Amino acid sequence: MPRKLGQHFLIRDSVLEKLAAAACGERAPRVIEIGPGRGALTRHLLLRADEIHAVELDSSLVQYLRTKFAAEPKLNVHEADVLATDLTQWGAAVITGNLPYYITSPIVEKFLHLDARFDRAVFLMQWEVAERIVAQPGTRDYGYLSVCVQLVCEVELICKVPPSAFAPPPKVDSAGVRFVRRSSLPENFASLRKLVSRSFAHKRKTLRNNLRPFYGAATDYLPEAGLRAEQLTAAQFVDLHSRLEVGSEVQA
Ligand code: SAM
Repeated sequence: MPRKLGQHFLIRDSVLEKLAAAACGERAPRVIEIGPGRGALTRHLLLRADEIHAVELDSSLVQYLRTKFAAEPKLNVHEADVLATDLTQWGAAVITGNLPYYITSPIVEKFLHLDARFDRAVFLMQWEVAERIVAQPGTRDYGYLSVCVQLVCEVELICKVPPSAFAPPPKVDSAGVRFVRRSSLPENFASLRKLVSRSFAHKRKTLRNNLRPFYGAATDYLPEAGLRAEQLTAAQFVDLHSRLEVGSEVQA
């Protein structure tokens, strides 16, 4: 079994059902499943979705799924690398999956960059990454990832899942996380993310010290100049960004 593909299969029905319900609610017209494996989650999704596109990289699992679900017209199995797949090609959809943990961050990043038709995602991921995604200001785990995700989505921890719920068991705890896209993206999102990244570059430094090299003396007059990045909510970063003259950045 190629462990490098993050193949830890969920075997606990209560967790599978919770993930499917969080993703689909009573009914979802279209679902994209990332890494269906042997179809454990797929089976639960089929009870709630009208159409499923399952993207699996391992060709032996693709064959297995096509045979196992041969009589299931709602399921389309695609042999592909999810990171190289255009997830918009089938139209609006909910996105879900027990993720291959070696690419959790790029998958979350890919979801963040989709448009408003992809308003919801439910992912099972390593607990430590989930903690950072849902972290609130002033806590140990709050940082660049928390702010970047929370600028785009409301996030909610659905469940904590122990290694014993998988075969073979992973070394770490896992967590189900639901992402619900906010109605609009903040303006100049790329530049805003750059500001957030610069603000967290040295976590113990004040915003003044982290930002002065990039935005010049204007930084000194900010009301939040003496605060640290970890004290600002995502909404406060949007506000800060709107007051900095980003167009006339000092070239560092
Ligand atoms: N959903 C199944 C379950 O819960 O039992 C399997 C989950 S397992 C953690 C991750 C799955 O993602 C594996 O089936 C693996 O082959 C697949 N996978 C790994 N890398 C992938 C990639 N780049 N694109 C698509 N699928 C991938």
